[in-house]
Amino acid sequence: MDLTVVSTYRCNSKCQMCYIWQNPTDPKEEVSIETLSKLPGGFDNLNVSGGEPTLRKDLMEVIDVLYPKAKITEISSNGLHPERLVPIIKKYPKLKVRFSLEGREINSNRIRGEKDGFQTKVKGLQMLKDAGGQDLGFALTIQDENVDDLVWLYEFARDMGVELATSTLHNAWQFHKNDNYFYDRVSVARKVEGLITAMLKTNNVKNWFRAYLNLGLIKKILGQDRLIKCTAGSDFIFIDPWSDVWACNVRTDLPMGNLAKQSWQEILDSDVARKSREKVAQCRQNCWMVTTARTAMRSNIIPMFPKLQPLFWVLENKIKTTLGMDIAFDRYIDYGNVGTSPRVERTSFLNQTFKAKLQKAADPHYVQGEFFNR
Ligand code: SF4
Repeated sequence: MDLTVVSTYRCNSKCQMCYIWQNPTDPKEEVSIETLSKLPGGFDNLNVSGGEPTLRKDLMEVIDVLYPKAKITEISSNGLHPERLVPIIKKYPKLKVRFSLEGREINSNRIRGEKDGFQTKVKGLQMLKDAGGQDLGFALTIQDENVDDLVWLYEFARDMGVELATSTLHNAWQFHKNDNYFYDRVSVARKVEGLITAMLKTNNVKNWFRAYLNLGLIKKILGQDRLIKCTAGSDFIFIDPWSDVWACNVRTDLPMGNLAKQSWQEILDSDVARKSREKVAQCRQNCWMVTTARTAMRSNIIPMFPKLQPLFWVLENKIKTTLGMDIAFDRYIDYGNVGTSPRVERTSFLNQTFKAKLQKAADPHYVQGEFFNR
């Protein structure tokens, strides 16, 4: 099972596609070390995210508690305070760290509302490499504004000796945003094909399966059904900063419990959790985030291996790229079946001031209404 711990909703970026930064939590109310200690061991991937986790003064203690509980522990950071991660990396060199970067310098800074963000992250990741970090990389959210930088960033990361993870625009309660729509779905999707081909041309098995993850992103971008059914609530669980436990980070109607008030086992066995899993089985959203996509790709019998569907796709297309043949994307993707959506402009907050509104535990949360990811 994979787990994401959203350690805080405080954030020092001002992204145009995620409004967590407009809705910060009160540090006094954020999930405590004591609460996190209640989690059992044995998770596959455990992601500490935010908001921006480096804004938590006790991040080292958070990692001290969580690191032994998972095969892979990851920090998803905006990378604006790399120096705060150096002592953590020195203690845990195998810790996975991903810095959000949205393409070339001007583009990335504009999309993320970060003055000098690009330079800080690039130097910062190198700083973590020098400190002994072994699993470092960037993470990019594919959107109309940066899709032309996609292959460039992939090659930039490869030249630095680090990874590139990709996701794409989603509407989700986690982002406090329900109006992220592509301006030109087909154009964006076609450009992702270039990244898939580049990944399959490498000799890195992980990249081949990342290529399949990106195939799923194309379907998401076009508004089509997921490649593989979602298993949220069973193979993937999400804890928000108020210790509330959710089956996923998209729908607001999939609660499972609260880790501060219940034990982990009580939460998993609860009626609330069972009802949420039933809804997941019927879910018609086609979101495809790395968390739920990665878990869905795993074999039910031997979780360290992929399901047959991604395995055969990877084998077939790895052979094709090795032989210099083109991948027939239209065999896998129906470009004649493209969802319609309103055009809602995204605005850069780079040069804007905006007063964030503190969200208290007693306030009503996630009131953005229904979410559509089609
Ligand atoms: S497919 Fe449904 S249940 Fe799965 S992550 Fe998306 S919204 Fe949640």
